[in-house]
This record gives sequence, structure tokens and C-alpha cells, in this order.
Amino acid sequence: MPPLIAILGRPNVGKSTLFNRLLSRREAIVEDRPGVTRDRHYSQGTIGRKSFRLVDTGGILFGDDHPLGESIRKQALFALEEADAVIYVMDGREGYLPVDADVIGRIRRSGKPSVFAVNKVDTVKTEEVLADFHRHGVAPLIGISAAHGRNVDALLDPFLDLM
Ligand code: GDP
Ligand code: MG
Repeated sequence: MPPLIAILGRPNVGKSTLFNRLLSRREAIVEDRPGVTRDRHYSQGTIGRKSFRLVDTGGILFGDDHPLGESIRKQALFALEEADAVIYVMDGREGYLPVDADVIGRIRRSGKPSVFAVNKVDTVKTEEVLADFHRHGVAPLIGISAAHGRNVDALLDPFLDLM
């Protein structure tokens, strides 16, 4: 079976947009409001002659009172558990958020190959935003625009050896 790459991150950061972009098709629902993807959503893609599987998740909610928050979080943590590799997506418009530190720590402790994507760099001053994440020790870091496809393929580079 091709390696499973989990796309994790808080709601609305652009995970489903990225999922569709990496697969070159519109499978996952992209919505302008958080919490649309609640369970996990799998698909398979190719890059050159290599294949990979992707799982899109509902996102990881922190300390909020969304009635589904806990179950969405469990789904995402399950995805981390079962994945061979992780793409953690953050929103460049929001910058580094301390709430991300918890899950970034979990991803590191999992020992799984991972890459940290700062999405929506089409809307911000990329260098300044990336510097902010760097200061917090988030690495390897890559600025992307899932909506425009910028740098998206580069996200898979660290995982090519697994495929
Ligand atoms: P998810 O909740 O993490 O799956 O996020 P979605 O993929 O549903 O996207 C949430 C919102 O962010 C939608 O309105 C998207 O159109 C928007 N979005 C996603 N990627 C980008 C991007 O690269 N740039 C900009 N400007 N908006 C984006
Ligand atoms: Mg989604």
C-alpha cells in the first residue's frame, strides 16, 4: 500500500483545498466556515510514477465549546496515529498561534516524517510571516498557496522516499 499522508491543522486553514490540489481534483468540500469536514476523508494520488494516499481531517479544535469539537479532534489524532507522514497546515494570515504548539509537539513525538505548511501566503508578506514561525522553531517550514497551487508539490518532496 502507498504511504498514508495525513493533512492536519485547525479548521479553516485550507486543508481540504490542499487535499484537492494535491490530488488535482475536487473531492473534499471546501467551505468558508469551520467544521465542515468532520470525519476523515481518504483518497489516492500520484506524483510521477509514485503513489501516495492522503487523509483529510476535520481539523484540530482547541478549548472551544463546539459540540463536535472533541470528536473532530479525536478523528484528527486518529489520523496522526495511523499515518506514515504528516502535513501540518497553518494559516499565514493568523501567524503562529500558541495553540498550534500542542499538536506540533505531538507530531514531533510521533517521530513521523512531517512538514509544516504555512498556507494562504498569497494574502500576506511571506518573508515576515515565515520568520515568525521560524522564531518558534517550526521546521521544516514551507509557505504555500493551496488555492493557487504555489509550492504545493514541494510539500511531497520529503516523503518521496516513502513512496
Ligand atoms: P479546511 O477547513 O482546513 O479544510 O479549509 P478549506 O480548505 O475548507 O478552506 C477554508 C477557506 O480558506 C476557504 O474559504 C478557502 O477558499 C480558503 N483558502 C484555502 N486555501 C487558500 C489559499 O491558499 N489562499 C487563500 N487566500 N484562501 C485559501
Ligand atoms: Mg476541510
